[in-house]
Amino acid sequence: MIILAADIGGTTCKLGVMDERLEILHKWEIPTNKEQDGRHILKNIHESFQKNAQIKNYSMDEVKGIGLGVPGPIDFDNGVVNGAINLNWAGKKNIREEYEQLSGKPVYVDNDANVASLGEKFKGAGQNAKDVVCITLGTGVGGGIISNNELVHGYNGSGGELGHFKVDFKERFLCNCGHRGCLETVASATGVVNLAYHYYEELRFSTIIEDDIESRTLQAKQVFDAAKEGDEFSLYIIRKVSNYIAYALSVISVMSNPEYIIIGGGVSKAGDFLIDHIEERFQEITFKPAVEGTKIVTAKLGNDAGIIGAAGLIKQYVK
Ligand SMILES: [Zn+2]
Repeated sequence: MIILAADIGGTTCKLGVMDERLEILHKWEIPTNKEQDGRHILKNIHESFQKNAQIKNYSMDEVKGIGLGVPGPIDFDNGVVNGAINLNWAGKKNIREEYEQLSGKPVYVDNDANVASLGEKFKGAGQNAKDVVCITLGTGVGGGIISNNELVHGYNGSGGELGHFKVDFKERFLCNCGHRGCLETVASATGVVNLAYHYYEELRFSTIIEDDIESRTLQAKQVFDAAKEGDEFSLYIIRKVSNYIAYALSVISVMSNPEYIIIGGGVSKAGDFLIDHIEERFQEITFKPAVEGTKIVTAKLGNDAGIIGAAGLIKQYVK
């Protein structure tokens, strides 16, 4: 048996064919056609799968199910997507039903952050442990909580929205969600830049990145690169960012006590440097029994996490 999976994004859909151990047999991408309220997206995906089956000589009869990752809030039990702005999907759409009718196969749908977390749990840095938390530090901050092998979805599907609880009680920066002080405002790529601008104003440190601060063209990567070169101001910013992330992880740890905390996304490319700071602070402030044996690691699968996790939904739920 094989499993098909699609990680649907605003620009491209990543498609994959996997075996039942979630090893990737084939993977490719197609552009996401968002025209006419995104109504062609599922059809395009399915046609691409059919074409691949023809070329690679397998039959759609061998397909156990199809897993989908979607950028938007999901009612997981019913497979309903409640608005996916990046795909031009407005209002509630029963994507599971629509795709089951199109394909005649069992379909499971979850949001992109959750499927990526599941991918890392199954085949990546999570070592297939039962209790895993993923936090993705990218343009925004997303995440997923896997507790006793199950993704936490919660009552409205907001379980695991790790970017949106308050860590900056001074509420200095406005979040995309409408609140102030969310983790996303101080730990995403934008958050790193927010803090750099803020502390440069406040402290007037001299720093090698001051030209980019003055001209408001600073990128998070420059802060990390400068910190690696020993720039005091940049180190100060990274410590601030690390402290916020460590605080978030300490709260999450007394909630679900994960064995692995996986840190992914562009910001995590700062590497050991960031992880070491987070780890140190996390150890200091977290309830001791909730720290014992917990490992903070960086994500391993990169862009493949989404399709592997989406296929993981089929492995887990289609018997
Ligand atoms: Zn927020």
